[in-house]
Amino acid sequence: MSLNEAALLGAHRQRFGREGRAFEAPARVNLIGEHTDYTGGLVMPMAIGFRTVAVISPREDGRAVFYSDNYGEEVSYEISSLERAPRGHWSDYPVGVLWSLGQEGVGVGGFSMSLMGDVPLGAGLSSSASVEVATAMALLAHAGVELPLDQLATMCRRAENEYVGAKSGIMDQFIVAGGIEHRAMMLDCRSLGFELLPLPEQVRVVICNSMVKHAVATGEYGDRRDEVEAGQSVLRHERKGVELLRDATLTDLETCREKMSAASYARCRHIITENARVLQAREALLAGDVDRFGALMVKAHASMRDDFAASCPEVDTLVDIAMRQAGCFGARITGGGFGGCTVNVVREEAAAGFVDAVKREYEAATGIKADCFVSAASDGALALAKAGVR
Ligand code: ADP
Ligand code: MG
Repeated sequence: MSLNEAALLGAHRQRFGREGRAFEAPARVNLIGEHTDYTGGLVMPMAIGFRTVAVISPREDGRAVFYSDNYGEEVSYEISSLERAPRGHWSDYPVGVLWSLGQEGVGVGGFSMSLMGDVPLGAGLSSSASVEVATAMALLAHAGVELPLDQLATMCRRAENEYVGAKSGIMDQFIVAGGIEHRAMMLDCRSLGFELLPLPEQVRVVICNSMVKHAVATGEYGDRRDEVEAGQSVLRHERKGVELLRDATLTDLETCREKMSAASYARCRHIITENARVLQAREALLAGDVDRFGALMVKAHASMRDDFAASCPEVDTLVDIAMRQAGCFGARITGGGFGGCTVNVVREEAAAGFVDAVKREYEAATGIKADCFVSAASDGALALAKAGVR
């Protein structure tokens, strides 16, 4: 699907009989720092060129009406009696944002909203944060309210955690709202302090979708969260000064090894070493050292696979194929795991050949056709709105 804002504005006018205003939010890819966000750690995502567009117009009957072009469905709520009542439906994401804004004390009058996105759904590129932030930008403009980045991201995260019921960290909403073109962002998920980092000009970021997703059926994502939290609470109890896993060292972890399950020990080891790798990756970017950055990605992948046990054979195959290609500096699984996408850093002039070779070899190995995208670091929703791109 190609995203055509003019067509969406036209379709909105036809459906709701009013001229709408359009707001955009991108998707994101995480370069390094996986499963570190919800224990207050470090991540390094960038916003990418996929988009969700939210078109909004007022209505006089006090209702919130959402239409998703992706699903071809409309839902309608009475705003004054909106409660936290998720339905396990796509509408939970935008309705959750409306509910979360109410928790923030922002009152919103009646509106119609059309949503359309070209972000691959459920592929680990955060279509969920994209739809949340696009919805939030539209609702805030409708209400005549502006929120700073950290409050906007936190409000959208609450929609996902408390309304939708997904245990995600702050990374997705923060980068989707706050990304800046040509820059990666190192985000401290505890303080919400961040640093924008230059991406070397001679490389491209290539995202490869394995087209498999194993976790939904087995609930393994939630298992990992539980294993991490169990380990973290042992560390908190046993080690002075450790409040979050972020504070713990490998020495702290060794001391507590006997007090936690083997699974918790391994999951915590991934997170502690991953936080250190993000700091090293920051140094590599500042020094323009792509070789070092790539080597850190490869280590991060091994840690996600072996310690966090959140890869899968198809994604490991994609990474192995990538690392065999000339001009590829590094490759790793990105997103929550158990399938989804890999992120690859590839020499610019090798990118097109890389995509062809990876697709061909992945299909030969697995019988699956991968989708590959050469992605540039894009503006987040706030920068897009400021530039008048919306
Ligand atoms: P990811 O964030 O990795 O894409 P999630 O499972 O977290 O995967 O979120 C995907 C869900 O977000 C979809 O199943 C759907 O409910 C919702 N969503 C995303 N984009 C849209 C859209 N354009 N319209 C309606 N719902 C959307
Ligand atoms: Mg998501």
